[in-house]
This record gives sequence, structure tokens and C-alpha cells, in this order.
Amino acid sequence: MNPAKPAPAPANSPSLSPKVAQFTESVIREMTRMAIQYQAINLSQGFPDFPAPAEIKRAAQEAIAADINQYAITWGSKNLRNSIAEKFERTTGIPIDTEREITVCCGSTESIMATMMAIISPGDEVVVFEPFYENYGPDAIMSGASPRFVKLHAPDWKFDPEELAAAFGPRTKAIILNTPNNPTGKVFERAELEMIRDLCVRWNTFAVTDEIYEHMLYDGAKHIPICTLDGMRERTVTINALSKTYSVTGWRVGWAVAPPDVSVAIRKCHDFLTVGAAAPLQEAGAIALKFPQEYYDKLASDYLQRRERLLGILTNAGFKCFKPRGAYYIMTDIADFGFPDDVAFAKYLVSEIGVAAVPGSSFYKNPASGRTQVRFTFCKTEKTFQAAEERLAKLKKSA
Ligand code: GLN
Repeated sequence: MNPAKPAPAPANSPSLSPKVAQFTESVIREMTRMAIQYQAINLSQGFPDFPAPAEIKRAAQEAIAADINQYAITWGSKNLRNSIAEKFERTTGIPIDTEREITVCCGSTESIMATMMAIISPGDEVVVFEPFYENYGPDAIMSGASPRFVKLHAPDWKFDPEELAAAFGPRTKAIILNTPNNPTGKVFERAELEMIRDLCVRWNTFAVTDEIYEHMLYDGAKHIPICTLDGMRERTVTINALSKTYSVTGWRVGWAVAPPDVSVAIRKCHDFLTVGAAAPLQEAGAIALKFPQEYYDKLASDYLQRRERLLGILTNAGFKCFKPRGAYYIMTDIADFGFPDDVAFAKYLVSEIGVAAVPGSSFYKNPASGRTQVRFTFCKTEKTFQAAEERLAKLKKSA
């Protein structure tokens, strides 16, 4: 127990930023804390509970032993930028300039934040598909942008092209895209990306695209990086990271690939936010990004098995599942359990059943839109699935 008493709030304390009052702490991270508190099986926050590949761990150990302990170049170590450029060309067909188009940051989280800070002017709007990964809301607020939400409709998470077109206008500075998508598992198709492209070109906006789940694809789904579409290379910021692909979410190494003039602005923001990502871990990343194609094929087939396993567990326990075509989450409908809302259900699930999931409302601007949804992740071991399966069996009986 920590015996220290926190400082008392002064009677007349200085005021805090009004921006901060506009968003809450991350619900996803909060669910992990609750999972620890209740010793629940954690199917909430998307981090693997299995080891990272031995080669990447060894490379990190060797980098520390070789005394790579001081700052890397602010926008990323040369070795890592070289590897990022090689992999980017392999996966997109587009050669990029390692000196001028890459900024390595502390995870995709900082990469997106630094990008938003670099491109947003007061009064700008950003288009965001909803449900959205919860960071995009605070990212918009902290950078000073107003988000314009466009609905993805269950069960196949299609958007209405007219609603999308209506969200764009003279104030639009960017669209934030995430494909494969968290939390829905949607993989945007070429025709959809072309609609987005046409609007970005028409209104002269950026596409900030979070492609961190690019290798987790199922049922023949194909990942199409939007920067490969005609007219998009010069207006796309592509975000990625080591986190999900190499199962090292705690290392915090990510990057933004953007045209040189945009990269200059992103680098300035990144430099004064964090200076740089962990130097030895960047060296390990440089090696991981060179893994052969078999590594990525196995990653996808292992995740396919995990998806099937969790779909089976959740369906048996009475959830209606929206089958994901990519990423490592399953959105479910919980209406049949008869709880007042998703938060009440998630609280009951973590405290009484012993399984943590993320309340759907945290992925929507208006919490009511997610009140019958809960998200589970399947980046977990068989042992975790077994324990979750046993516990969720109680849910069926008590519901
Ligand atoms: N992307 C992960 C999720 O949605 C979590 C990321 C994070 O917590 N930084 O669960």
C-alpha cells in the first residue's frame, strides 16, 4: 500500500486547460486497470499476452549491450528508417526518401498526435469514421480540430457515400482513416477508398491513415494503402508501428510516412513532444522489419485461428458477433442480455463474471450509439481463451 497522502487541492486552485475537460481518460486503459483489480481475464485492451519473436528480443538486448543507450536521431535511427523504407516499398510499391519522408515517434499514438499538431489550424475540421478508436477524439481536441463523424453501419460497417460527402467542406483539413479498422474489423475496399480519395482531392485535404493492423486480414480481405491511389501520395500521412505486427505494444516505436514538407512539420512537433523513441528498440525494429514474408503469413494464420476461437466462445455465451475481416477485435451486440447499457454490462462482466471487455460507447461521440455494443480482443493465448470460456459460461446461466 502507498501510505503517502496526495497534496490537498488549494481552496483557490489555478484553472486547468478547458481542452482537457472535453475528454475523459481512456476507457480502454481503464478496463485493463479494472481487469487487474478484479483479477479478470483481460480481453479489453489490444495487447498480446504471448511473447514477442525471439529475434526481436535478442536484437534489443544486443543493442543495449552494444551501448546504443543515447538519443537516436530525432526523426529515427538511420537503420530503422532504411528498414521502414524497404518495407514500405515492398508493401505499397512506392519508394520513399529515408532522409525526408519518415518520422519515427513513440508509437503510432504519438505519430498521429504529432501529425495532427503539424497540420491543424484553428477552425479546421477532421472527418472521422464512427465507431472510432478512442484516441482520435482527444487527438482532434488537443490539436484544436473539430471532428465531423461519419457512421459505419453494422453489420458490415458500410458508410453512406452521401453522408461522407456532406462531412467534407471548405474547413476540412483531413480525414482520419483506420484500415483494417479498430474496433469493427472492417477492411476498406477499393471503391470506398476511391470515394474518399475523390473527396480528399476535391476539398484539398490530407488523409491520415492508421494502418497498424495491415497484416491481420481474414477471409480473403486485401489491405489497400490509400497512398497507392492516384492523387493520394502527396496528401497522405501513413502511420504504422512495431506494436501489433511484432507483439511489442509496450516498446512504443511507431512512425509517420509523409511528403517532405509535411514531414518537416511533423518532425518539429515530434522533436518538442518527446525528442525521440527508445534508441535500442529502434535498432531491434530495424531487424524485425526485415523478417521474411513467411513471418507475416504465419501472423495472419495464427490470428485467424484466434478469431475463430473467440467467435466460438462469444457465440456460445450468447453474444451476437460482428465477424471482423481484419485487425484483432470482435464487436458484439449485447442487447439480448437485457442490461441498461454497455457500461453496466462491462462492469458486471469484469466484476462478477471475471472477464474484461471494452464498452462500445467509448468508440462513439454520443454514448447512446454504442449502448448495445461491447468489444473483445483476440490477441491472446489458448490458456486465456480457456479461462474466458469457463467464466463466460456463467454469464449464460445468470442472464
Ligand atoms: N489499440 C489498442 C486497443 O484499441 C490499445 C492501444 C493503447 O491502449 N494504446 O485496445
